[in-house]
Amino acid sequence: MGERRIPQRVLGKTGLKVSVLGLGGFHQVEIGQSYVERLVERYLEAGGNYIETARSYGGGAAERKLGRALVGKRAEIVLVSKTGQREAEGAWQEINESLEALKTDYLDILLYHGVNDREAVKAILAPGGAAQAFARAREEGMVHFIGVSSHWPQLLPWVMEQLDLDVVMYWVNYLDFCHYPEIPQQVAPAARSKRLGIIGMKPLADGYLYRSVREAFTFALAQEVDVLACGFNSLEMLERDIEAVCAWTQPNVQVLETILRDAPELGDYVCRQCGQCRLPDLDLPKVFELEGKFDRQMFDGRPKEAPDYALRQRLGPWFHNQERAITLYKPYAERVRTFLEESRPLPACPYGIDLSWKLRLAHLKLTSDGRFPAGAADDF
Ligand code: SF4
Repeated sequence: MGERRIPQRVLGKTGLKVSVLGLGGFHQVEIGQSYVERLVERYLEAGGNYIETARSYGGGAAERKLGRALVGKRAEIVLVSKTGQREAEGAWQEINESLEALKTDYLDILLYHGVNDREAVKAILAPGGAAQAFARAREEGMVHFIGVSSHWPQLLPWVMEQLDLDVVMYWVNYLDFCHYPEIPQQVAPAARSKRLGIIGMKPLADGYLYRSVREAFTFALAQEVDVLACGFNSLEMLERDIEAVCAWTQPNVQVLETILRDAPELGDYVCRQCGQCRLPDLDLPKVFELEGKFDRQMFDGRPKEAPDYALRQRLGPWFHNQERAITLYKPYAERVRTFLEESRPLPACPYGIDLSWKLRLAHLKLTSDGRFPAGAADDF
């Protein structure tokens, strides 16, 4: 029997058939040209056909490396890049630079990169905004489909109303599932109602779920998603990912609940949003959701081995989401402060989370200046 090949799904209304495991270009910056070529070779051999990068990764290095690796292979793949330029002139220049670096005359998909606030959308749609360059590139056959990527999922239902899109890209993994319940509840249904293709990013939560690759893919592929852009940059990582996606079968609800319950990365600190501790006068799950938006619930006030500590420091505070979480917490702050002062008893959590410790830490984070714990070291 031959080797199993990476399964495919249809990318929404684009109709493109894409392998569920995508090659994300960001981490190709960190490895040499010949190794990128070996990775691409192996990825294609296993049935992979979705390769995604961005103009900004490594100042264009990711595109240049992938461009060299893809010589003679362009027809086999769905090739995707992104520009963060919000004005037409800059976007047009970057589209042309991407095509040159990737040694191709068209991109299957071009994404508005990192649309995380309303100002970005307004700039894109303004006269002389990037939307004009995207439309021109599509008219001239340089780009076949258009999409958006975002690190602030709450904004996406609105973004999908504003921009003319074929695909949307956002975080899909079981860690951030706990921090962004709006993804399964609002973002994914809105995307599907528009027949958009869904690109999931960070299926291993930026590598944080490295101990749980099989579980991470089991969970992520069970979500509303067509392809998972994954940042592997070694052959070992790639083989592990191929094995996980090839072994995937549709899990039932119990399997997904077991993954969330037993995940070592979630342990007895990360709130699973089960809702059982919600009180009539205080929405505790909401407070913990905002803590998740602040630092992905990575700082738990407990001692850590150096690699774990470093990983949490690197991955917790991203994309200015801390500032957004602090703003969203303001209506809850006074109520929580009073609650803590009164030392009111708290319900038991089915995941063994010490709610009084957690509530105290969450409150300190969300009332800090965004530099917690460095900025609040005396307070806990
Ligand atoms: S009971 Fe535990 S898991 Fe459930 S919402 Fe509360 S803190 Fe989160």
